[in-house]
Amino acid sequence: MSDPLALARPEIRALEAYEHAAWQPGLARLHANEVPWRGPADRSIAGLNRYPEPHPDALATQLAALYGVPAQCALACRGSDEAIDLLVRTFCTAGRDAVLVCPPTFGMYAVAARIQGAAVIAVPLARDRSYALDVPAIEARLADGNVRLVFLCSPNNPTGNLMAADDVRRVIATARGRALVVIDEAYAEFAAGNSWAHIIGAEPHAVILRTLSKAWGLAGARIGTLLADERIVGLLRKVIPPYAIAQPCIEAAEAALAPTQQRVAREWVAAIVAERERLQAGLAALPCVTRIWPSAANFLLVEFDDAARARARVQHAGLLVRDFSDRPGLGQALRITVGSPEQNDQLIGSLAC
Ligand code: PMP
Repeated sequence: MSDPLALARPEIRALEAYEHAAWQPGLARLHANEVPWRGPADRSIAGLNRYPEPHPDALATQLAALYGVPAQCALACRGSDEAIDLLVRTFCTAGRDAVLVCPPTFGMYAVAARIQGAAVIAVPLARDRSYALDVPAIEARLADGNVRLVFLCSPNNPTGNLMAADDVRRVIATARGRALVVIDEAYAEFAAGNSWAHIIGAEPHAVILRTLSKAWGLAGARIGTLLADERIVGLLRKVIPPYAIAQPCIEAAEAALAPTQQRVAREWVAAIVAERERLQAGLAALPCVTRIWPSAANFLLVEFDDAARARARVQHAGLLVRDFSDRPGLGQALRITVGSPEQNDQLIGSLAC
């Protein structure tokens, strides 16, 4: 099995990680220049006067169990946004390497690449095939040699579709030894748990991104998880700053992952999926709606006869939606997040002629 670290920047492979203060919770901490007292407004369990665990291993273990991978294959990050940034910084040499993205898709892949000085190669999804991957074009670009990361998003934001399993498999097979294939599954829970996490261990060049920001209702805590071969996780641990995840966020995530709370998250997902179908039916009956793309996520990509007019009407009713009509390949489209039943009724009502 080839070594995925051969694709990483040599200076990152050679980097000596920052040596943080020892983590020995049983001993009094006179080694980290903290103050010994808790503030009166401190509601945390561990105390905000103390640094959090440098790499929150207990949380990473819980996340690994949630996603069904060994503990050493999971890295907790500040949202999957941070995971994207870490990957680009670790695997792309500025001015030389490239990332491959399949627009219309989540914008942070290209932004992270540009910040790093990596090129962005775009292989658009095929709108005439329900936004499927253009696998032959991806394969052709992989043959060029300077692509280090291929970002696939499934379900894709903003189109909502899952990428076909055969297409993903072909991209992984072609990328082997050439590039990492990063499958962003931020919305997987809304797609009946449809996930590629099971290939971790079998495909050292595959990376999966998950998040607690969507189905788990924890966007404010910024907890994402990168799942990958343990060698990749080990390398990224050198790049992620120590103490990256703040103590209140660690505690919020651990509480949300407790078994009773997990039931709540599953109920939310079921409720959102049911609302998604109801919202879709309500919107489909409106004359101003020209197309609704099938969605496996917690939003709908909806095309209108006039997107700007539709957005203005929705906003007049006090609701924000995302206008994508200026993006190539999306038509007069708004991306509408599935809200509460009341909000969804309000949205449909605001668009009714
Ligand atoms: N990936 C996708 C596809 C997203 O839509 C988002 C957020 N909109 C993210 C990643 C970032 O999520 P997080 O909150 O985990 O940083």
